[in-house]
Amino acid sequence: MDVLNKNISVIGAALSGIAVARLLKRNGARVFLSEFAPQEQKSQEYVLLQNEKLECEFGGHSDRALQADWVVVSPGVPGDVPILRKLAVLKIPVYSEIEIASRFLRSPVIAVTGSNGKTTTTTLIGEICNRSGLDTIVAGNIGTPLSDVVETNAENGIAVLEISSFQAERLKTFKPKVGVLLNLSPDHMDRYSSVEEYYGAKRKTFEMQDAADYLVYNDDDGNVKNLIAGLSGTKVPFSLSRKLPNGCYLDSGRIMCQLEKEEEVITTDRIGIIGKHNIYNAMAAILASRLMHIPVSTIQQTLHEFKGVDHRLEFVKEIRGVRFYNDSKATNVDSTYVALESFTAEKIILIAGGKHKGSPYTPLRELTKQKVKCLVLIGEAAPLIENDMNGAVPVTHAHSMHEAVQKSFERATNGDVVLLSPACSSYDMFKNYEDRGNQFKQEIFHLN
Ligand code: ADP
Repeated sequence: MDVLNKNISVIGAALSGIAVARLLKRNGARVFLSEFAPQEQKSQEYVLLQNEKLECEFGGHSDRALQADWVVVSPGVPGDVPILRKLAVLKIPVYSEIEIASRFLRSPVIAVTGSNGKTTTTTLIGEICNRSGLDTIVAGNIGTPLSDVVETNAENGIAVLEISSFQAERLKTFKPKVGVLLNLSPDHMDRYSSVEEYYGAKRKTFEMQDAADYLVYNDDDGNVKNLIAGLSGTKVPFSLSRKLPNGCYLDSGRIMCQLEKEEEVITTDRIGIIGKHNIYNAMAAILASRLMHIPVSTIQQTLHEFKGVDHRLEFVKEIRGVRFYNDSKATNVDSTYVALESFTAEKIILIAGGKHKGSPYTPLRELTKQKVKCLVLIGEAAPLIENDMNGAVPVTHAHSMHEAVQKSFERATNGDVVLLSPACSSYDMFKNYEDRGNQFKQEIFHLN
């Protein structure tokens, strides 16, 4: 992509905003970075930008930010802020970081999106590609901005990208060789005015695909099937509920992959990560990597050895017959639902709550009644969850992670599971979900 001497503004000095600003500057653009928050709140970012000699402003977006051939907006910036409205009036094109960074890619792309399971599936595909010997970059919403690593992308390698709805919102030319749509359920209702708007943002990931590209999708998810109608990528489904003439499906505990021929990939009991949802993730990873011609044996070995990603149904420790699981990344209702579904015989003491994101908790009521012995509620959303559970199970409240773990352990007996799976984001009590999960683990290590 030729950006030499272009005037480009970047809105938002967060991880990917800074990364794209640096990428563009390295490639000869005249970059201006504009951040709404005051310098004192962003002191680390400020120092970094000064060291890089990158022109910037903090504490608001001045008209200087409007003097641009085009603009890149960080994914954290909501679509209706005044600066974006001004840019729209001036007809200055606005792109997302992934859109711009992807124009520097040389290799084919596997792009993974969905409401839940993105990081797990992206990591898994990345590990399969690496094990196969492909020169692999793994980036996007997973934590490494694409802009930071795109220049290392080899022509005969592969880029595995996790795409969030925020990143997908402003995609225009992005065209993955393989797109993966895992599932769709309501989330981020604090940012979008309707679920349709949220699902529509995700759809942009696949809109430029043509018949030479593949769209791997979850055939058991009605929302997914509705959303992909009319897309042009060659559709390759996966399902746990029915045998498919092409794609991935279950046959007596064996995961079968039918593309050019029918192949058995692995039995579900040999997959390293637990839960039905992870069989879906495994199927998506199998299809994405088979479509890139990676041998079944490589996929099978990786699925067997993969231990999952921290904070996603992560087994922490067993103390006196009580097993503790950290699912701090369960930041929406559906991810908590699948966590509860993943335990069959055990009784669960569930620690939930945090910052409310706008969706009701009622879908959890029935499963909670069946599986949960006691709910330990934390954070702002605690009264809302208690109300939506409508007396289904005993509830207790905790004001810190210390108190939550103590109360959970007091209520647990031999054979029970203590599960942190909040169904909410963490920002009311913690820095982020990692901090929440780490505090949970710390408290467990202090129990005896
Ligand atoms: P994302 O990157 O989409 O947030 P993660 O892999 O980080 O997804 O997992 C987030 C949460 O969702 C975790 O609690 C995890 O156990 C749960 N989860 C993982 N895969 C799925 C799936 N396929 N369906 C529903 N929930 C899932």
